[in-house]
Amino acid sequence: MTKWVYFFGAGKAEGDGTWRDVLGGKGAGLAEMTKIGLPVPGGFTISTEACDYYYKNGKKFPPELKKQVAENVAKLEKVTKKKLGDPKNPLLVSVRSGSARSMPGMMETILNLGLNDKSVQGLAASTKNERFAYDAYRRFVQMYSTVVMGLSKEDLEHRLRSMRDRLGVKEDTAVPAGGWKELVSEYKQYFKEKSGKEFPDDPMEQLWGAIGAVFGSWMAEKAVTYRRVEKITGLLGTAVNVVQMVFGNTGDNSGTGVCFTRDPSSGEKIFYGDYLTNAQGEDVVAGIRTPVHLTELGKIMPEAYAQLEKVRAKLEKHYKDMQDMEFTIEEGTLYMLQTRTGKRTPAAAFKIAMDMANEKLISKEEAVLRIKPEDIERLFYPVIDSKVDKKSLSSKILTHGIDAVPGAAVGKVCFSAHQAEELAAKGEKVILVRRETSPEDVGGMAVAQGILTATGGKTSHAAVVARGWGKCCIVGAESLNIDYQGRSMKDGKSGKVVKEGEWLTLDGGEGVVYADKLPLVTPEFPKAYQTIMKWADETRRLGVRTNADTPQDARKAIEFGAEGIGLCRTEHMFFTDFEHPEKSHDRQLAIQEMILAETQEARVKALDKLLPFQRRDFVGIFKAMDGFPVTIRLIDPPLHEFVPHEPAKQADLAKELGIPVEIVARRVEQLHEANPMLGHRGCRLSITYPEILEMQVRAIIEAAIECAKNKVKVLPEIMIPLTLDRKEMSILADATRRVADDLIKKSGVKLPYMVGTMIELPRAALLANEIAEVAEFFSFGTNDLTQTTMGLSRDDAGRFLPDYVDEKKAGVFAGDPFQTLDTKGVGMLIKWGIEKGRETRPKLKVGICGEHGGDAESVKFCHQVGMDYVSASPYRVPISRLAAAQAVIEDKAARKKT
Ligand code: PEP
Ligand code: MG
Repeated sequence: MTKWVYFFGAGKAEGDGTWRDVLGGKGAGLAEMTKIGLPVPGGFTISTEACDYYYKNGKKFPPELKKQVAENVAKLEKVTKKKLGDPKNPLLVSVRSGSARSMPGMMETILNLGLNDKSVQGLAASTKNERFAYDAYRRFVQMYSTVVMGLSKEDLEHRLRSMRDRLGVKEDTAVPAGGWKELVSEYKQYFKEKSGKEFPDDPMEQLWGAIGAVFGSWMAEKAVTYRRVEKITGLLGTAVNVVQMVFGNTGDNSGTGVCFTRDPSSGEKIFYGDYLTNAQGEDVVAGIRTPVHLTELGKIMPEAYAQLEKVRAKLEKHYKDMQDMEFTIEEGTLYMLQTRTGKRTPAAAFKIAMDMANEKLISKEEAVLRIKPEDIERLFYPVIDSKVDKKSLSSKILTHGIDAVPGAAVGKVCFSAHQAEELAAKGEKVILVRRETSPEDVGGMAVAQGILTATGGKTSHAAVVARGWGKCCIVGAESLNIDYQGRSMKDGKSGKVVKEGEWLTLDGGEGVVYADKLPLVTPEFPKAYQTIMKWADETRRLGVRTNADTPQDARKAIEFGAEGIGLCRTEHMFFTDFEHPEKSHDRQLAIQEMILAETQEARVKALDKLLPFQRRDFVGIFKAMDGFPVTIRLIDPPLHEFVPHEPAKQADLAKELGIPVEIVARRVEQLHEANPMLGHRGCRLSITYPEILEMQVRAIIEAAIECAKNKVKVLPEIMIPLTLDRKEMSILADATRRVADDLIKKSGVKLPYMVGTMIELPRAALLANEIAEVAEFFSFGTNDLTQTTMGLSRDDAGRFLPDYVDEKKAGVFAGDPFQTLDTKGVGMLIKWGIEKGRETRPKLKVGICGEHGGDAESVKFCHQVGMDYVSASPYRVPISRLAAAQAVIEDKAARKKT
């Protein structure tokens, strides 16, 4: 019989922290904490497999589930010595969701389940607190009505507000037992009106309703959106955790909180968190009341705080990672309700990994494994340019809030998630401003540059979600009065008013909001980043180069740790003069003249004009790469890309070149190809027009000689694109060497250089053994190799690829093959190509220069198949360095296992 339910309580658990896939993160954490002797209330977890079954079988529960739940309820009753629905000493439970990956606030929770008209009296008697008991009851009826039955939250809240008005009280805490009693019957009345059914009194009926609602919430729109935004795929569903209730709202001796074993923003080793006295469940996360700092708890309840400190130490040592914990204190007794690996900012990820390695809690290798590619991407947070003068800065302050996620953001104010999405779709930068955010807002939060809320603490929904995304966020800006209807906000202190669509700048590091558009800059890398990257560099075997076409990009890439250029696309230099952009037209004209030339002689004349431009660019790049190898690829795109297609522009060009417009138009027409990606491009151009190759090789070698004479070390690698045959490659390699050797000989300088090719076509990969006879190196051009192997256009496949990747649609691929290498198909050609190439030339140098060279998963594959280096765009170089190190560590671990 399939086991669907797992029990934990009284120091024992059927499962542990490693069972996340089956028990979900929450369930696995509860089981593990129970096992290591922490104070956890008893309960049981219905597995994610049951949720999977539910959706695969037309929303039906597995047949054995009923019995298993009943058995576990009985077990829980035994352990707690309380009974569900008991009129004297009732057992109450919470019912919560929890999947294998944390999705903060995305799914449903029901508290105080088990209350009815009889058991509420038992609760009142056993706690000697009638007011508390009826408050718990009305909360339950309210949650059950909205979550399970889908009734309107607003309608119920309205009844609560009018009841408060009737009683003449402002706060819920001032409502007496009688008030809550009244409200419960109003709610039940409303329930009957809307659903046509009586509110269920039977606790088991309540429980099954709640279990169904939790399963249902897995496919709720907000949860589906969150998974899409976070790229969470492959999960079975949510587990359901049924746990004995403990109460943080029985009085001032009780409370609830969320805490982190280290600061999730900075990574500092300090105990960090929020606490709310006399509050229940989700009050902290929901951001409805603004909590106090955890250290306050130390003053209010020193004993419970000291116990919590011990739990903190134990959990961190146990999990060897920063933990995010939820706890409740009931009448001075501490209960742990959750522990999970804490979400953190990228800066904190580096700091925590470095510190934990230095503390010997983890190894350096583990520290390197802890960093995710996204952490690096998000590390380079922008900040407000320090050049902005301090006085003018302070005059622009709108308000202050809590610095939830660092970095700065600039955008136009939007007061709704929907509007933020609309504006962002039009290419506008937006800041989402809300009183508080809820899971419904995630779409708008995802597209916003930054998020500002008037309420909530650092663990509110807004803060938790934004932190996960590394997105600037300020919460708890309490003096802000937001008028959703009037589409404006006014700060109570500064008196300033900001309307929808006006500019706002957030400084998430300081928690300051400016009513203006301020300039942002990207800061220096933090110290921990440098340390971890040093460890990564010491570990990796793969070299990491960059794809750069300009001296500026080359210099940037060196800052990011590049060890050479793996691809310099020379045709980009035909379009733009990167040092003097205003002079770009000169070179554009020269290339156009070359293309339009009708004789070889005229072509050579035009190419002679291009030569000095190219030579100068190469000198700049060689200097920037001082001593590192530079792979320069000869012309690749089809020529039609260089000439104008609109008649007006053709006329301008004809005038400038002093030729009839008909000639221009005719030549452009001649260049037209039905399928240019498989047309006259790549090395095919140099077979037809060898003078282009000659000019480019001359520019490269002359630049290299000039540098060598000036004591700049140069290592040019001349690369032929799109080769498909040995003979073709040998013609071009010979031509290249002829020009190069002649120039080198005449210069008297000793200049080593190499001639190699890109492998971008299946045929080239298949015949790699032959091609390697003439090519000294291979660089896999996986953009074209993916295109030509899969028969998918790299420029157009975006139209249907989303369907191919979407699990709910075709789900043919796990990811976009132009982003993450198709290791199964394209990868097979790469493996073959390397093997065959090295059979011919054992020392054949092999790299990759397609976009995949900057994708962590693909880099790991490149390591496995024995490449020498990967080449990535400058900003992705650190990702490749890290992934290359992780590949070594993961390899080692895998070998140990076998
Ligand atoms: C490739 O095809 O992978 C490549 C790097 O060349 P390009 O993107 O310029 O075609
Ligand atoms: Mg290519």
